[in-house]
Amino acid sequence: MDRYRPPLDDIRFSLAHEVPLTRLTAEPALAVADPDTVAGLLEEAGRFAAEVIAPTDRVGDREGARLVDGGVVLPEAFRTAYAQYVASGWGAVQHPEAFGGGGFPLLVATAVKELITTANMAFSLGPLLTTGAVHLLTHHGSEDQRARWLPRMVTGEWTGTMNLTEPQAGSDLGAVTARAEPVGDGSYRVFGQKIYITYGDHDLAEQVVHLVLARLPDAPPGTKGISLFIVPKRMVGPDGAPGEANDVRVVSIEHKLGIHASPTCVMAYGEGGDGAWAELVGDPHDGMRQMFTMMNDARLGVGLQGLAVAERAVQRAEAYARERTQGRAVGTPPGTQSPIVAHPDVRRTLLEARAQIDAMRALCYANAHALDLAQHAGDADERARQQALADLLTPLSKAWCTDLGVELTSEALQVFGGMGYVEETGVAQQFRDARIAPIYEGTNGIQAIDLVGRKLPMEDGGLVARVLDGLLAELDGAPDAVAELVPPVVAAADLARDLAAELLAMRDDPRDALAGATPYLRVLATVIATALVVRGLVAAERARAAGEAVDAGLLAARTARARVLVRRVLPRVHGLAAAVRAGAADLYAEGTPAA
Ligand SMILES: Cc1cc2nc3c(=O)[nH]c(=O)nc-3n(C[C@H](O)[C@H](O)[C@H](O)COP(=O)(O)OP(=O)(O)OC[C@H]3O[C@@H](n4cnc5c(N)ncnc54)[C@H](O)[C@@H]3O)c2cc1C
Repeated sequence: MDRYRPPLDDIRFSLAHEVPLTRLTAEPALAVADPDTVAGLLEEAGRFAAEVIAPTDRVGDREGARLVDGGVVLPEAFRTAYAQYVASGWGAVQHPEAFGGGGFPLLVATAVKELITTANMAFSLGPLLTTGAVHLLTHHGSEDQRARWLPRMVTGEWTGTMNLTEPQAGSDLGAVTARAEPVGDGSYRVFGQKIYITYGDHDLAEQVVHLVLARLPDAPPGTKGISLFIVPKRMVGPDGAPGEANDVRVVSIEHKLGIHASPTCVMAYGEGGDGAWAELVGDPHDGMRQMFTMMNDARLGVGLQGLAVAERAVQRAEAYARERTQGRAVGTPPGTQSPIVAHPDVRRTLLEARAQIDAMRALCYANAHALDLAQHAGDADERARQQALADLLTPLSKAWCTDLGVELTSEALQVFGGMGYVEETGVAQQFRDARIAPIYEGTNGIQAIDLVGRKLPMEDGGLVARVLDGLLAELDGAPDAVAELVPPVVAAADLARDLAAELLAMRDDPRDALAGATPYLRVLATVIATALVVRGLVAAERARAAGEAVDAGLLAARTARARVLVRRVLPRVHGLAAAVRAGAADLYAEGTPAA
């Protein structure tokens, strides 16, 4: 009933029209990603995700991760699937060819990640962290570090982690207290405890490369005094092979609402007294800047999780709605029962969800596309413009897509009625799995603060207007078939532009803009993602008019869904405007929770 179906048609549509891959392949560094090669790669990734990864999803949820004799044990099915993941080279797609990677654009790797995450979110977290760690070391590691650590991390033979959080340092990483001491031979020793470390230990790979934030003895307080260290699980001998254990211990693993097979570890470094052996990455006290390379990578990856769990849950709901019969649909003979998909309210639920999934994909892919051009565009000004666009889109991808992941998995569960609440259907797992994504990688509240505090002021406060104007310009002269979709997007974009200016002008009390940050993030993300969807339809219609092959059935389905997006979802932004403008006074009024 609910076999995972890789959404390849929708992915292909996005790469052809919404966020064109051909713009990337025009850059010599990305020419490897020619459309035929990418089509074959995605076909194979879809097959791998459906046949190898998806069957591990339920078993992972049921068996979970276990701590046995000081080491984390994952389900047998994970070990088998991970070995195939490494052997097939899926981890290497986006990494530089110099370290054994495929050299593909992040956009293509993002589509591959989507397929694997949709098949099993808990499985995908190991590769997500490893990819982020590779990215960080590629940019900030020394030549020697890159040569020693990267080749086996690129393949996935060794995995990576991200060690930021401590009991007193969650959103506020300036409070990190783990410490590191130089020992005079160029190496360091790290002491301290980290909590909630994803894939902090496991039995999928022989080595875990921890990237740990800690303070040197002369560190200034706050985030400016944090350095970044490589701390391997096992010491590496001169032959490059992992040998004896480093002083790194898994204290415990968390029992969680969802992603049961993604081990979330409390890690102790240097308990033995001499410290855990470590290498400094880059300059002392520069760790936060370096870690942001990994965090931004992971933020897009986590946004993709919202899309992925929603896609999987909605696929299940669509299948169930076609089979389950209840009630009599309007216009059918008395005495019959209709499949619930025939009822307007169920169709509304499914189509609003589908429409928003299209929009999430457009946004995440546009984010990846901007990051690719920020790195590879031939023109320096273009690179700077694309980096600013990526900076703006990252908190939107992370927060908006993960909030929708929770909302849409809940809506999908509702389609099942009572059966949705019963674990047997599988949709309850997606609902539980989805709930972490708005929390980790910077809570969605922190993403909204980033948007309003750091991103809106960029380009003298003009970044949002520039991005929106650029998108609207591409909708000018839209073909008749989709022209009716454009005016509501223009009106919503006008509102998003005005609200950005109003938030920037709220100077009496800094709390006013912060109190409007979360509703504003939803406004801006909804507007940009909808504009991207409509831009895709405009481009597809133009391609069809120019005689290019465009799948007519898919185009009709996408247009119908875009109508739902524009008519039923986009108008909600006008309702949110009041909350953006309301300021903070009511939230601090007498009788509300005391500070
Ligand atoms: C399953 C799981 C996996 C994780 N994986 C990792 C990992 O691999 N590596 C790692 O380092 N960490 C990891 N984390 C930790 C995660 O990133 C933190 O939980 C998260 O950053 C929030 O920190 P906190 O839990 O301390 O919450 P807090 O920081 O205490 O936040 C509590 C609430 O207060 C809000 N808040 C806090 N400060 C502000 C502010 N200034 N303004 C407005 N609101 C604010 C937050 O939005 C949140 O709603 C993981 C956590 C979980 C549960």
